[in-house]
Amino acid sequence: MRLLLAEDDWMIGQALREGLNQEGFVVDWVQDGRQAELALKAAAAEYALLLLDLGLPRRSGLDLLADLRRSRADIPVLILTARDSLSDRVLGLNSGADDYLVKPFELDELVARIHALVRRAAGRAEPVIEHGVLRLHPVKRECWLRGEPVELSAREFDLLYVLLEKPGAVLSRTRLEERVYGWGQEVVSNAIDVHIHHLRKKLGPGFIVNVRGVGYRVAKP
Ligand code: CA
Repeated sequence: MRLLLAEDDWMIGQALREGLNQEGFVVDWVQDGRQAELALKAAAAEYALLLLDLGLPRRSGLDLLADLRRSRADIPVLILTARDSLSDRVLGLNSGADDYLVKPFELDELVARIHALVRRAAGRAEPVIEHGVLRLHPVKRECWLRGEPVELSAREFDLLYVLLEKPGAVLSRTRLEERVYGWGQEVVSNAIDVHIHHLRKKLGPGFIVNVRGVGYRVAKP
């Protein structure tokens, strides 16, 4: 899952990126409001969530948030703020944020909130995704087929998760790439096809359908 992190504090940004990487997230990190704005203009739809510090140089987090919602982008936004004044948090929520955390916070809590927001944005209340004989647990990063655990690589898991978010929808290779790879991660030209090939071997050939010239989709159960 790919996230955008807007945080100007180098220590916090570094720690968050590392911690979230270890939890299986791909994190694009920007350190000021203007960079965040550009990243969102380029690819708001490819991010599962925006982690937004309110006190950012060049453009404030609140400004950015107001613009984002005006442009009708529905990306979930979790505010990170050191300011413990009530008015900032209220203002943030009223400007279109979905949740907030006050620094300092525990990584575990952040991760749980990210998963909850992403789940809600996808219209799910259940933490487990069920699709026919397949079960996927995004928080534990586990997958079962007919009750048996299936070992998936990190990329395979991410791809399957993205495809299962909208079962039946065809996603192009480019779109899939943009959803599971972050900045600076080298993608070889047939990477998606290779991962899908491995997924098909593990899940059975009929599960993921190749729509010729368009991309891939998950078959109806
Ligand atoms: Ca800050």
